[in-house]
Amino acid sequence: MELRPFPLDPVRGRAALQRDLRIDEHEEGSVGQEAAGCHEVELEDTVDAEVAGDALVGERRVDVPVADDVPSVAERRSDHTVDELGARGREQRSLRPAAHLEPVQQETPDLLPQRRPARLARRHDLPALLAQRLREELGLRGLPGPVQTFEGDEHRRRTIRRVRAVVTGGAGFIGSHVVEALLARGDEVHVLDDLSAGKRENVPDGARLHEGDIREDAERVFSEGRPEVCFHLAAQVDVRVSVERPDHDANVNVIGTLHVLEAARRHGTKVVFSSTGGAIYGECEGPAREDHPRRPLAPYGVSKLAGEEYIAAYSRLYGGGHVSLRYGNVFGPRQDPHGEAGVVAIFMSRLRDGETPRIFGDGTQTRDYVFVGDVVAATLAAAAHEGAVFNVGTGSETSVLDLYERIQRVAGIEREPEFADARPGELRRSVLDPSLAQRELGWKAKRSLDEGLAETWAWISGD
Ligand code: NAD
Repeated sequence: MELRPFPLDPVRGRAALQRDLRIDEHEEGSVGQEAAGCHEVELEDTVDAEVAGDALVGERRVDVPVADDVPSVAERRSDHTVDELGARGREQRSLRPAAHLEPVQQETPDLLPQRRPARLARRHDLPALLAQRLREELGLRGLPGPVQTFEGDEHRRRTIRRVRAVVTGGAGFIGSHVVEALLARGDEVHVLDDLSAGKRENVPDGARLHEGDIREDAERVFSEGRPEVCFHLAAQVDVRVSVERPDHDANVNVIGTLHVLEAARRHGTKVVFSSTGGAIYGECEGPAREDHPRRPLAPYGVSKLAGEEYIAAYSRLYGGGHVSLRYGNVFGPRQDPHGEAGVVAIFMSRLRDGETPRIFGDGTQTRDYVFVGDVVAATLAAAAHEGAVFNVGTGSETSVLDLYERIQRVAGIEREPEFADARPGELRRSVLDPSLAQRELGWKAKRSLDEGLAETWAWISGD
Protein backbone atom coordinates (compact mmCIF):
# COMPACT_ATOMS: atom_id res chain seq x y z
CA MET A 1 0.00 0.00 0.00
CA GLU A 2 1.35 3.37 -0.93
CA LEU A 3 1.10 5.91 1.81
CA ARG A 4 1.38 9.35 0.39
CA PRO A 5 3.04 11.78 2.71
CA PHE A 6 1.20 14.97 3.33
CA PRO A 7 1.94 17.57 0.76
CA LEU A 8 2.49 19.97 3.54
CA ASP A 9 6.14 20.75 3.55
CA PRO A 10 7.03 24.21 2.68
CA VAL A 11 8.16 24.34 -0.87
CA ARG A 12 10.85 26.75 -0.17
CA GLY A 13 12.99 27.55 2.81
CA ARG A 14 11.10 28.94 5.70
CA ALA A 15 13.42 31.85 6.22
CA ALA A 16 13.19 32.80 2.58
CA LEU A 17 9.44 32.63 2.73
CA GLN A 18 9.29 34.73 5.81
CA ARG A 19 11.44 37.30 4.11
CA ASP A 20 9.26 37.28 1.07
CA LEU A 21 6.14 37.42 3.09
CA ARG A 22 7.50 39.86 5.59
CA ILE A 23 6.06 38.05 8.53
CA ASP A 24 7.61 37.61 11.90
CA GLU A 25 7.17 34.89 14.42
CA HIS A 26 4.46 36.76 16.24
CA GLU A 27 2.41 37.24 13.15
CA GLU A 28 2.94 33.68 12.15
CA GLY A 29 1.65 32.45 15.44
CA SER A 30 -1.59 34.28 15.12
CA VAL A 31 -2.16 34.10 11.47
CA GLY A 32 -4.44 31.14 11.71
CA GLN A 33 -6.95 33.34 13.43
CA GLU A 34 -6.87 36.13 10.92
CA ALA A 35 -8.86 36.60 7.86
CA ALA A 36 -6.92 34.95 5.11
CA GLY A 37 -3.96 36.84 3.99
CA CYS A 38 -0.97 35.69 2.10
CA HIS A 39 1.00 33.81 4.68
CA GLU A 40 2.27 30.37 5.24
CA VAL A 41 1.01 29.23 8.61
CA GLU A 42 1.59 26.51 11.08
CA LEU A 43 -1.36 24.85 12.66
CA GLU A 44 -1.19 22.11 15.13
CA ASP A 45 -3.69 19.32 15.02
CA THR A 46 -6.02 21.27 12.88
CA VAL A 47 -5.87 19.62 9.56
CA ASP A 48 -6.56 16.02 10.28
CA ALA A 49 -9.80 14.20 10.43
CA GLU A 50 -10.14 15.12 14.06
CA VAL A 51 -10.62 18.69 13.13
CA ALA A 52 -13.69 17.91 11.27
CA GLY A 53 -14.90 16.02 14.24
CA ASP A 54 -13.87 18.59 16.77
CA ALA A 55 -15.48 21.23 14.73
CA LEU A 56 -18.74 19.41 15.15
CA VAL A 57 -19.03 20.38 18.74
CA GLY A 58 -21.60 23.05 19.20
CA GLU A 59 -24.57 23.87 17.04
CA ARG A 60 -27.76 22.10 17.49
CA ARG A 61 -29.82 19.60 16.58
CA VAL A 62 -34.14 13.27 11.52
CA ASP A 63 -38.92 8.03 8.57
CA VAL A 64 -37.19 6.24 6.83
CA PRO A 65 -36.50 4.90 3.78
CA VAL A 66 -32.88 4.59 3.73
CA ALA A 67 -33.19 5.84 0.29
CA ASP A 68 -30.43 8.32 0.39
CA ASP A 69 -27.45 7.95 -1.28
CA VAL A 70 -25.50 5.80 -4.26
CA PRO A 71 -18.30 4.26 -11.31
CA SER A 72 -16.02 4.72 -13.36
CA VAL A 73 -12.65 4.15 -11.92
CA ALA A 74 -10.31 6.93 -11.27
CA GLU A 75 -10.48 8.98 -14.36
CA ARG A 76 -7.01 10.17 -14.36
CA ARG A 77 -4.31 10.95 -11.97
CA SER A 78 -0.80 12.09 -11.77
CA ASP A 79 1.43 13.22 -9.05
CA HIS A 80 1.90 16.76 -10.15
CA THR A 81 -0.82 17.66 -7.73
CA VAL A 82 -3.14 20.47 -8.29
CA ASP A 83 -0.74 23.03 -7.43
CA GLU A 84 -2.99 25.86 -8.31
CA LEU A 85 -4.57 25.15 -4.97
CA GLY A 86 -1.34 25.83 -3.41
CA ALA A 87 -2.34 28.82 -1.64
CA ARG A 88 -0.95 32.06 -0.86
CA GLY A 89 1.82 33.36 -2.97
CA ARG A 90 4.10 36.15 -2.18
CA GLU A 91 2.67 38.69 -4.54
CA GLN A 92 -0.87 39.80 -4.60
CA ARG A 93 -0.60 40.01 -8.35
CA SER A 94 0.12 36.34 -8.53
CA LEU A 95 -2.93 35.49 -6.56
CA ARG A 96 -5.27 37.08 -8.97
CA PRO A 97 -5.44 34.91 -12.02
CA ALA A 98 -8.68 36.60 -12.80
CA ALA A 99 -6.91 39.89 -13.20
CA HIS A 100 -4.85 38.48 -16.02
CA LEU A 101 -7.96 37.11 -17.61
CA GLU A 102 -10.13 40.14 -17.49
CA PRO A 103 -9.47 41.32 -21.03
CA VAL A 104 -10.30 37.89 -22.33
CA GLN A 105 -13.30 37.49 -20.11
CA GLN A 106 -14.74 40.69 -21.37
CA GLU A 107 -14.78 39.20 -24.79
CA THR A 108 -16.05 35.88 -23.54
CA PRO A 109 -19.79 35.71 -23.08
CA ASP A 110 -21.45 33.25 -20.79
CA LEU A 111 -21.01 30.05 -22.67
CA LEU A 112 -23.75 28.04 -21.10
CA PRO A 113 -26.69 29.25 -23.10
CA GLN A 114 -24.92 28.74 -26.37
CA ARG A 115 -22.81 25.72 -25.73
CA ARG A 116 -21.39 24.24 -28.88
CA PRO A 117 -19.66 20.94 -29.39
CA ALA A 118 -16.51 21.13 -27.37
CA ARG A 119 -13.45 22.41 -29.08
CA LEU A 120 -10.49 23.64 -27.11
CA ALA A 121 -10.19 27.24 -28.10
CA ARG A 122 -7.03 29.09 -27.45
CA ARG A 123 -8.43 31.46 -24.88
CA HIS A 124 -9.89 28.59 -22.92
CA ASP A 125 -6.39 27.53 -22.17
CA LEU A 126 -5.69 30.67 -20.26
CA PRO A 127 -6.74 29.59 -16.79
CA ALA A 128 -4.80 26.35 -17.04
CA LEU A 129 -1.76 28.06 -18.52
CA LEU A 130 -1.91 30.73 -15.92
CA ALA A 131 -2.22 28.24 -13.14
CA GLN A 132 0.76 26.40 -14.57
CA ARG A 133 2.79 29.59 -14.61
CA LEU A 134 1.77 30.39 -11.08
CA ARG A 135 2.91 26.95 -10.07
CA GLU A 136 6.27 27.49 -11.64
CA GLU A 137 6.64 30.97 -10.23
CA LEU A 138 5.59 30.17 -6.74
CA GLY A 139 6.46 26.54 -6.38
CA LEU A 140 3.02 25.98 -4.97
CA ARG A 141 1.81 22.78 -3.51
CA GLY A 142 -1.63 21.31 -3.31
CA LEU A 143 -4.10 21.96 -0.55
CA PRO A 144 -2.82 20.06 2.38
CA GLY A 145 -4.81 16.98 3.09
CA PRO A 146 -6.54 17.03 6.45
CA VAL A 147 -5.97 13.35 7.02
CA GLN A 148 -3.29 11.74 9.03
CA THR A 149 -1.46 8.87 7.56
CA PHE A 150 -2.08 5.74 9.50
CA GLU A 151 1.22 5.40 11.24
CA GLY A 152 0.75 7.84 13.98
CA ASP A 153 1.67 11.30 14.87
CA GLU A 154 4.62 12.11 12.73
CA HIS A 155 2.58 14.75 10.92
CA ARG A 156 0.94 16.25 13.94
CA ARG A 157 2.71 19.53 13.42
CA ARG A 158 2.61 20.67 9.88
CA THR A 159 3.15 23.71 7.86
CA ILE A 160 0.21 24.47 5.71
CA ARG A 161 -0.70 27.02 3.17
CA ARG A 162 -4.02 28.68 3.23
CA VAL A 163 -6.36 28.86 0.31
CA ARG A 164 -9.34 30.86 -0.79
CA ALA A 165 -12.29 28.55 -1.12
CA VAL A 166 -15.88 28.69 -2.28
CA VAL A 167 -18.18 26.13 -0.69
CA THR A 168 -21.47 25.77 -2.55
CA GLY A 169 -24.14 24.38 -0.26
CA GLY A 170 -22.05 25.57 2.70
CA ALA A 171 -25.17 26.31 4.75
CA GLY A 172 -26.24 22.67 4.49
CA PHE A 173 -25.40 19.62 6.56
CA ILE A 174 -22.11 18.42 5.06
CA GLY A 175 -21.13 21.75 3.51
CA SER A 176 -21.21 23.58 6.84
CA HIS A 177 -18.77 21.06 8.29
CA VAL A 178 -16.49 21.53 5.30
CA VAL A 179 -16.61 25.27 5.96
CA GLU A 180 -15.68 24.77 9.60
CA ALA A 181 -12.74 22.57 8.74
CA LEU A 182 -11.46 25.12 6.22
CA LEU A 183 -11.80 27.95 8.71
CA ALA A 184 -9.91 25.90 11.27
CA ARG A 185 -7.07 25.72 8.75
CA GLY A 186 -7.12 29.50 8.41
CA ASP A 187 -8.57 29.45 4.92
CA GLU A 188 -10.67 32.22 3.46
CA VAL A 189 -14.14 30.80 2.88
CA HIS A 190 -17.01 32.03 0.71
CA VAL A 191 -20.30 30.16 0.95
CA LEU A 192 -22.75 30.16 -1.95
CA ASP A 193 -26.10 28.82 -0.82
CA ASP A 194 -29.69 29.71 -1.69
CA LEU A 195 -30.87 28.55 1.75
CA SER A 196 -33.49 26.36 0.10
CA ALA A 197 -32.52 23.60 2.52
CA GLY A 198 -29.54 25.07 4.30
CA LYS A 199 -29.71 27.43 7.24
CA ARG A 200 -28.05 30.74 7.76
CA GLU A 201 -27.08 29.74 11.30
CA ASN A 202 -25.17 26.73 9.95
CA VAL A 203 -22.64 29.04 8.37
CA PRO A 204 -19.88 29.52 10.90
CA ASP A 205 -18.57 32.92 11.84
CA GLY A 206 -15.61 33.73 9.72
CA ALA A 207 -17.11 32.52 6.47
CA ARG A 208 -18.82 34.93 4.11
CA LEU A 209 -22.30 33.83 3.08
CA HIS A 210 -23.39 34.81 -0.42
CA GLU A 211 -27.09 34.04 -0.56
CA GLY A 212 -27.69 32.99 -4.14
CA ASP A 213 -28.32 30.23 -6.63
CA ILE A 214 -25.52 28.27 -8.24
CA ARG A 215 -27.36 28.66 -11.57
CA GLU A 216 -27.28 32.43 -11.40
CA ASP A 217 -24.69 33.60 -8.97
CA ALA A 218 -21.66 31.34 -9.35
CA GLU A 219 -19.74 33.76 -11.55
CA ARG A 220 -20.39 36.69 -9.23
CA VAL A 221 -19.23 34.79 -6.18
CA PHE A 222 -16.14 33.45 -7.93
CA SER A 223 -15.30 36.97 -9.10
CA GLU A 224 -15.51 38.22 -5.54
CA GLY A 225 -13.88 35.27 -3.87
CA ARG A 226 -11.25 34.41 -6.51
CA PRO A 227 -11.14 30.86 -5.12
CA GLU A 228 -8.33 28.44 -5.70
CA VAL A 229 -10.66 25.61 -4.84
CA CYS A 230 -14.43 25.13 -4.92
CA PHE A 231 -16.12 22.44 -2.85
CA HIS A 232 -19.33 21.95 -4.79
CA LEU A 233 -21.96 20.49 -2.47
CA ALA A 234 -25.06 22.50 -3.40
CA ALA A 235 -27.62 20.15 -4.84
CA GLN A 236 -31.19 18.99 -4.98
CA VAL A 237 -30.63 16.03 -2.64
CA ASP A 238 -34.07 14.51 -2.25
CA VAL A 239 -34.52 11.26 -4.18
CA ARG A 240 -38.31 11.49 -4.04
CA VAL A 241 -38.29 15.03 -5.36
CA SER A 242 -36.09 13.84 -8.19
CA VAL A 243 -38.73 11.26 -9.10
CA GLU A 244 -41.56 13.76 -8.88
CA ARG A 245 -39.75 16.63 -10.55
CA PRO A 246 -36.88 15.25 -12.62
CA ASP A 247 -36.61 18.49 -14.58
CA HIS A 248 -36.03 20.48 -11.41
CA ASP A 249 -33.53 17.89 -10.19
CA ALA A 250 -31.58 18.06 -13.45
CA ASN A 251 -31.76 21.81 -13.49
CA VAL A 252 -30.08 22.19 -10.12
CA ASN A 253 -27.76 19.20 -10.25
CA VAL A 254 -26.70 19.28 -13.90
CA ILE A 255 -27.15 22.84 -15.13
CA GLY A 256 -26.15 24.17 -11.72
CA THR A 257 -22.99 22.11 -11.78
CA LEU A 258 -22.22 23.42 -15.27
CA HIS A 259 -22.47 26.97 -14.04
CA VAL A 260 -20.07 26.16 -11.23
CA LEU A 261 -17.70 24.52 -13.70
CA GLU A 262 -17.86 27.50 -16.04
CA ALA A 263 -17.02 29.89 -13.23
CA ALA A 264 -14.23 27.55 -12.15
CA ARG A 265 -12.84 27.44 -15.69
CA ARG A 266 -12.76 31.20 -15.93
CA HIS A 267 -11.04 31.61 -12.60
CA GLY A 268 -8.65 28.68 -12.76
CA THR A 269 -10.39 27.01 -9.78
CA LYS A 270 -10.17 23.37 -8.83
CA VAL A 271 -13.55 21.71 -8.14
CA VAL A 272 -14.24 18.94 -5.64
CA PHE A 273 -17.71 17.59 -6.46
CA SER A 274 -19.97 15.81 -3.96
CA SER A 275 -21.46 12.85 -5.74
CA THR A 276 -23.12 9.76 -4.36
CA GLY A 277 -22.24 6.09 -4.11
CA GLY A 278 -25.58 4.54 -3.21
CA ALA A 279 -27.68 6.38 -5.79
CA ILE A 280 -25.23 5.69 -8.63
CA TYR A 281 -24.25 2.05 -8.12
CA GLY A 282 -27.67 0.66 -7.42
CA GLU A 283 -27.86 -2.81 -5.88
CA CYS A 284 -24.50 -4.04 -4.57
CA GLU A 285 -23.39 -7.63 -3.99
CA GLY A 286 -20.53 -6.47 -1.85
CA PRO A 287 -18.45 -3.35 -1.40
CA ALA A 288 -18.67 -1.54 -4.74
CA ARG A 289 -15.47 -0.28 -6.27
CA GLU A 290 -15.41 2.84 -8.40
CA ASP A 291 -15.59 0.70 -11.54
CA HIS A 292 -18.76 -1.06 -10.38
CA PRO A 293 -21.51 -0.82 -13.03
CA ARG A 294 -23.47 2.39 -12.64
CA ARG A 295 -27.18 1.70 -12.43
CA PRO A 296 -28.91 4.68 -10.92
CA LEU A 297 -32.54 3.98 -10.14
CA ALA A 298 -33.73 7.51 -9.59
CA PRO A 299 -33.22 10.74 -11.52
CA TYR A 300 -31.14 11.99 -8.59
CA GLY A 301 -28.51 9.31 -9.30
CA VAL A 302 -28.64 10.15 -12.99
CA SER A 303 -28.12 13.86 -12.40
CA LYS A 304 -25.24 13.23 -10.02
CA LEU A 305 -23.67 10.89 -12.55
CA ALA A 306 -24.11 13.55 -15.22
CA GLY A 307 -22.39 16.01 -12.89
CA GLU A 308 -19.48 13.61 -12.53
CA GLU A 309 -19.20 13.24 -16.29
CA TYR A 310 -19.12 16.99 -16.79
CA ILE A 311 -16.53 17.29 -14.05
CA ALA A 312 -14.36 14.71 -15.81
CA ALA A 313 -14.94 16.24 -19.25
CA TYR A 314 -13.96 19.70 -18.05
CA SER A 315 -10.79 18.25 -16.59
CA ARG A 316 -9.99 16.67 -19.96
CA LEU A 317 -10.86 19.80 -21.91
CA TYR A 318 -9.43 22.50 -19.75
CA GLY A 319 -7.30 20.80 -17.13
CA GLY A 320 -7.92 21.59 -13.50
CA GLY A 321 -7.86 18.02 -12.18
CA HIS A 322 -11.37 18.18 -10.70
CA VAL A 323 -12.35 15.38 -8.36
CA SER A 324 -15.67 13.63 -7.72
CA LEU A 325 -16.40 11.97 -4.40
CA ARG A 326 -19.07 9.31 -4.04
CA TYR A 327 -20.28 9.56 -0.50
CA GLY A 328 -21.96 6.73 1.33
CA ASN A 329 -24.77 7.43 3.83
CA VAL A 330 -23.43 10.41 5.66
CA PHE A 331 -24.64 11.07 9.19
CA GLY A 332 -23.74 13.41 12.00
CA PRO A 333 -24.68 16.62 13.72
CA ARG A 334 -26.77 19.12 11.77
CA GLN A 335 -28.37 16.56 9.50
CA ASP A 336 -31.94 17.58 8.84
CA PRO A 337 -34.38 15.10 10.41
CA HIS A 338 -37.15 16.40 8.21
CA GLY A 339 -35.69 15.42 4.89
CA GLU A 340 -35.93 12.06 3.23
CA ALA A 341 -32.36 10.97 3.70
CA GLY A 342 -30.74 10.70 7.03
CA VAL A 343 -32.14 7.69 8.82
CA VAL A 344 -29.87 8.28 11.79
CA ALA A 345 -31.17 11.78 12.33
CA ILE A 346 -34.75 10.62 11.81
CA PHE A 347 -34.52 7.75 14.32
CA MET A 348 -32.77 9.87 16.87
CA SER A 349 -35.10 12.82 16.67
CA ARG A 350 -38.10 10.48 17.04
CA LEU A 351 -36.60 8.85 20.09
CA ARG A 352 -35.82 12.24 21.55
CA ASP A 353 -39.35 13.48 20.95
CA GLY A 354 -41.01 10.40 22.42
CA GLU A 355 -42.20 9.22 19.01
CA THR A 356 -41.94 5.76 17.50
CA PRO A 357 -39.40 5.31 14.75
CA ARG A 358 -40.69 3.61 11.62
CA ILE A 359 -38.76 1.02 9.65
CA PHE A 360 -39.72 0.40 6.05
CA GLY A 361 -39.56 -3.24 5.00
CA ASP A 362 -38.06 -5.86 7.29
CA GLY A 363 -35.08 -3.74 8.27
CA THR A 364 -32.49 -6.09 6.81
CA GLN A 365 -31.57 -3.67 4.05
CA THR A 366 -28.01 -2.42 4.51
CA ARG A 367 -26.16 0.81 4.00
CA ASP A 368 -22.63 2.16 4.43
CA TYR A 369 -22.90 4.77 7.18
CA VAL A 370 -20.02 7.21 7.28
CA PHE A 371 -19.56 9.96 9.83
CA VAL A 372 -19.56 13.52 8.55
CA GLY A 373 -16.20 14.36 10.14
CA ASP A 374 -14.61 11.58 8.12
CA VAL A 375 -16.39 12.77 4.99
CA VAL A 376 -15.00 16.25 5.50
CA ALA A 377 -11.50 14.83 5.91
CA ALA A 378 -11.82 12.98 2.60
CA THR A 379 -13.24 16.05 0.92
CA LEU A 380 -10.36 18.25 1.92
CA ALA A 381 -7.82 15.57 1.07
CA ALA A 382 -9.34 15.28 -2.40
CA ALA A 383 -8.59 18.92 -3.07
CA ALA A 384 -4.91 18.10 -3.29
CA HIS A 385 -5.49 15.25 -5.72
CA GLU A 386 -5.48 15.33 -9.48
CA GLY A 387 -8.66 14.37 -11.28
CA ALA A 388 -10.26 11.18 -10.05
CA VAL A 389 -13.41 9.57 -8.64
CA PHE A 390 -13.30 8.20 -5.12
CA ASN A 391 -15.69 6.33 -2.92
CA VAL A 392 -16.03 7.83 0.52
CA GLY A 393 -17.44 5.11 2.72
CA THR A 394 -16.35 2.65 5.37
CA GLY A 395 -16.56 -0.61 3.41
CA SER A 396 -18.88 -1.96 6.12
CA GLU A 397 -22.60 -2.42 5.73
CA THR A 398 -25.05 -2.10 8.56
CA SER A 399 -28.68 -3.19 8.47
CA VAL A 400 -31.38 -0.80 9.55
CA LEU A 401 -32.27 -3.19 12.39
CA ASP A 402 -28.71 -3.22 13.63
CA LEU A 403 -28.49 0.54 13.28
CA TYR A 404 -31.64 1.00 15.30
CA GLU A 405 -30.30 -1.27 18.06
CA ARG A 406 -27.13 0.77 18.24
CA ILE A 407 -29.04 4.04 18.33
CA GLN A 408 -31.21 2.83 21.19
CA ARG A 409 -28.08 1.87 23.11
CA VAL A 410 -26.37 5.18 22.48
CA ALA A 411 -29.52 7.11 23.41
CA GLY A 412 -30.25 4.96 26.43
CA ILE A 413 -33.86 4.62 25.23
CA GLU A 414 -35.63 1.39 24.37
CA ARG A 415 -38.67 1.59 22.14
CA GLU A 416 -40.20 -0.93 19.75
CA PRO A 417 -40.12 0.47 16.23
CA GLU A 418 -43.11 0.20 13.96
CA PHE A 419 -42.76 -1.52 10.60
CA ALA A 420 -44.23 -0.28 7.33
CA ASP A 421 -44.27 -1.71 3.82
CA ALA A 422 -40.99 -1.68 1.98
CA ARG A 423 -40.74 1.29 -0.30
CA PRO A 424 -40.72 0.49 -3.98
CA GLY A 425 -37.32 0.76 -5.57
CA GLU A 426 -35.43 0.77 -2.31
CA LEU A 427 -32.05 -0.91 -2.52
CA ARG A 428 -31.40 -4.05 -0.50
CA ARG A 429 -27.66 -3.61 -0.20
CA SER A 430 -25.44 -0.60 -0.64
CA VAL A 431 -21.83 -0.51 0.50
CA LEU A 432 -18.77 1.22 -0.89
CA ASP A 433 -15.21 -0.03 -1.22
CA PRO A 434 -13.03 2.81 0.06
CA SER A 435 -9.65 1.25 -0.78
CA LEU A 436 -8.87 3.59 -3.68
CA ALA A 437 -9.25 6.62 -1.43
CA GLN A 438 -7.11 4.87 1.14
CA ARG A 439 -4.33 4.27 -1.39
CA GLU A 440 -4.49 7.57 -3.23
CA LEU A 441 -5.60 10.03 -0.58
CA GLY A 442 -4.27 8.32 2.52
CA TRP A 443 -7.83 8.61 3.79
CA LYS A 444 -9.73 6.19 5.89
CA ALA A 445 -12.82 6.65 8.01
CA LYS A 446 -11.60 6.97 11.57
CA ARG A 447 -14.83 7.05 13.55
CA SER A 448 -16.47 3.78 14.43
CA LEU A 449 -20.19 3.70 13.85
CA ASP A 450 -20.87 3.79 17.58
CA GLU A 451 -18.55 6.75 18.12
CA GLY A 452 -20.22 8.67 15.33
CA LEU A 453 -23.66 7.79 16.68
CA ALA A 454 -22.69 8.95 20.15
CA GLU A 455 -21.49 12.27 18.79
CA THR A 456 -24.65 12.67 16.78
CA TRP A 457 -26.88 11.82 19.72
CA ALA A 458 -25.05 14.35 21.88
CA TRP A 459 -25.92 17.00 19.35
CA ILE A 460 -29.50 15.93 18.74
CA SER A 461 -30.32 15.50 22.39
CA GLY A 462 -28.55 18.74 23.33
CA ASP A 463 -26.28 16.99 25.86
P1 NAD B 1 -28.12 19.60 2.32
O1 NAD B 1 -29.49 19.71 1.71
O2 NAD B 1 -27.99 19.77 3.77
O3 NAD B 1 -27.13 20.62 1.60
C1 NAD B 1 -27.33 21.08 0.28
C2 NAD B 1 -27.22 22.60 0.32
O4 NAD B 1 -27.32 23.10 -1.02
C3 NAD B 1 -28.34 23.25 1.12
O5 NAD B 1 -27.76 24.15 2.03
C4 NAD B 1 -29.19 23.98 0.09
O6 NAD B 1 -29.75 25.17 0.60
C5 NAD B 1 -28.15 24.25 -1.00
N1 NAD B 1 -28.73 24.40 -2.33
C6 NAD B 1 -29.65 23.59 -2.94
N2 NAD B 1 -29.91 24.05 -4.19
C7 NAD B 1 -29.14 25.16 -4.36
C8 NAD B 1 -28.95 26.06 -5.45
N3 NAD B 1 -29.63 25.94 -6.60
N4 NAD B 1 -28.07 27.07 -5.29
C9 NAD B 1 -27.39 27.22 -4.12
N5 NAD B 1 -27.53 26.40 -3.08
C10 NAD B 1 -28.39 25.38 -3.19
O7 NAD B 1 -27.55 18.18 1.86
P2 NAD B 1 -26.23 17.40 2.32
O8 NAD B 1 -26.67 16.09 2.88
O9 NAD B 1 -25.36 18.26 3.11
O10 NAD B 1 -25.57 17.10 0.91
C11 NAD B 1 -24.46 17.83 0.42
C12 NAD B 1 -23.96 17.21 -0.86
O11 NAD B 1 -23.54 15.87 -0.62
C13 NAD B 1 -25.03 17.13 -1.96
O12 NAD B 1 -24.41 17.42 -3.18
C14 NAD B 1 -25.49 15.68 -1.91
O13 NAD B 1 -25.95 15.24 -3.18
C15 NAD B 1 -24.19 14.99 -1.52
N6 NAD B 1 -24.42 13.69 -0.85
C16 NAD B 1 -24.99 13.65 0.40
C17 NAD B 1 -25.17 12.39 1.02
C18 NAD B 1 -25.74 12.27 2.41
O14 NAD B 1 -25.83 11.14 2.91
N7 NAD B 1 -26.13 13.36 3.06
C19 NAD B 1 -24.79 11.23 0.37
C20 NAD B 1 -24.23 11.32 -0.91
C21 NAD B 1 -24.04 12.58 -1.49
